Formats: sequence, structure tokens, C-alpha cells
Amino acid sequence: MTFHGSCHCGAVKFEVEGPIPEGYTCDCSLCSKRNAVMANVHESRLRITQGEERLGLYQWNARIAKHYFCSTCGIYPFHRKRSMPDHYGVNLRCLDDFDMTGLPIRAAEGKGMTVVDPSAREAWPGPRE
Ligand SMILES: [Zn+2]
Repeated sequence: MTFHGSCHCGAVKFEVEGPIPEGYTCDCSLCSKRNAVMANVHESRLRITQGEERLGLYQWNARIAKHYFCSTCGIYPFHRKRSMPDHYGVNLRCLDDFDMTGLPIRAAEGKGMTVVDPSAREAWPGPRE
């Protein structure tokens, strides 16, 4: 099943190949401000169909994750993850035809990765899809 996503102004459009069994929130300083519900999607399952050149890039802290936003409307559609660089975190609120009703939503612990510290966790130790 293919879901269709877009930013608010419609400049950026993308597709995500399902299934999407769960969503997650994150408590890091960036995610808590943008307040998105996200899903982990392997890079092979996300396709930017329009407006890739309109995406702005924001990087901070370790500058590994790539946080994209629409340069016109400012909406965050997805980011490349620091802990799993071959995966995107997709903003489920940007999927126009995905029903989040009843979706399990996990609270991810991101604060522990927000500081550049030798003891900070380098990668998510749990299972990947
Ligand atoms: Zn836009």
C-alpha cells in the first residue's frame, strides 16, 4: 500500500510504501518543538515525487541527522535519522491518505542522544525492520 504525503503548500510531495504499523514521538529538544508523530521508514520505501529542490536542510548537535523542511511553508515532512542513517523518520501528519486512528504510538527517548558526549548512545540498539 502506498501513502501520499505533502507539505502544507504542496511544493513537496512524496510517497511512502506501507505498512506503517506504529508511530512514535520523541522528547529531544527539536522533536518536542515540532511535535510530530513519526514513523521509521527504510529509504527504499520513501520516494520524493516533487519539489526535492525546495527542501531546506537543518542540522544541529552531532550534525548527522538531516532534518528537511519545505523552504516555502516550513513544514517538516521527514528526516534522515542519526541512529539509522538508512531510514527516514516520516511525519505521519503529512500523509494525506493515512488514517492514524488506533495507531499505536510509542514515546521514544531522544534526550539521551541530544548531547554530543562520549557516553551518549550512538545507535538505536533495538530491532530494525
Ligand atoms: Zn510547502
